[in-house]
Amino acid sequence: MSKPLILALSKGRILKETLPLLAAAGIEPLEPLDKSRKLLFDTTLDNVKLVILRAVDVPTYVQMGAADVGVAGKDVLLEHGAQGLYEPLDLDISRCRLMTAGIEGVTPGRARRRVATKFVNIARRYYSDLGIQAEVIKLYGAMELAPLMNLADEIVDIVDTGNTLRANGMAPRELIADISTRLVVNKASMTVEHARLGPLIERLGQAVAERRQSDVTS
Ligand code: AMP
Repeated sequence: MSKPLILALSKGRILKETLPLLAAAGIEPLEPLDKSRKLLFDTTLDNVKLVILRAVDVPTYVQMGAADVGVAGKDVLLEHGAQGLYEPLDLDISRCRLMTAGIEGVTPGRARRRVATKFVNIARRYYSDLGIQAEVIKLYGAMELAPLMNLADEIVDIVDTGNTLRANGMAPRELIADISTRLVVNKASMTVEHARLGPLIERLGQAVAERRQSDVTS
C-alpha cells in the first residue's frame, strides 16, 4: 500500500469551516475530532489521514513534507513566508482583514512608530515598504490592549467585524491584506502524489464553488 496522504488542518475557527468542505469532497474523520486528545485521524478515504495542528505550525509541516497538504489562513502563510509551498486553492472561508489599528481619533506620526503584533514579519515588511521606522514588539494575544497601556502607538491585527477594536476604544486604520483560508501543498508531494492530489484539489475546488453558489442563492 502507498504511503498515506497527510492533510494538516488548523485548529479552531478555521477547522469548523474546513470540515464541511472536506466532507463535500468525500473526506470525513472516522471518529469525532473533539472526543479525545488524539491529533492524527483516519478518514473515510482510504489512506488519507488528518492531523490537527496549531495554525502557525501548518506551513512548517507542509514545507518540510511531514504533511502533504495543509489548510491555513493567508495571515499565517504571509507571516511564515511559506517558501516551498504551492497554494492551489482559496477555500474562501474565515475571511477577515489584516489591518493596522490604533486609539480612536488619534493620528499616528509618519516618522516613527511602536507597533505591537503577533505578525512581526508582516509588520516589518509593511512599515519598511512605507518608509516608516517601526519598532515592532511581539505579543501573543490581546493586541488591542497595547495602545491603551502605552506599550505601542499602533497594532497590526486581524479584524473581522471590528467589534473587538471598538469595545476597547480603538479603530481600524490601514488595510494590509485581505485574508482567507488557503489550501497549500508540499512541492515534492504535488509531483510525486499528483495522481491522488489532483482529484482531491479538484473535488475541494468544486465544494468551494458549490458553497459560494448556495451562499448567493440563500
Ligand atoms: P472582530 O471583533 O470581529 O473584529 O474579531 C477580531 C478578533 O477575532 C481578532 O482579534 C482575531 O483574533 C479574531 N478573528 C476574527 N476573524 C478571524 C479569522 N478569520 N481568523 C483568525 N482570527 C480571527
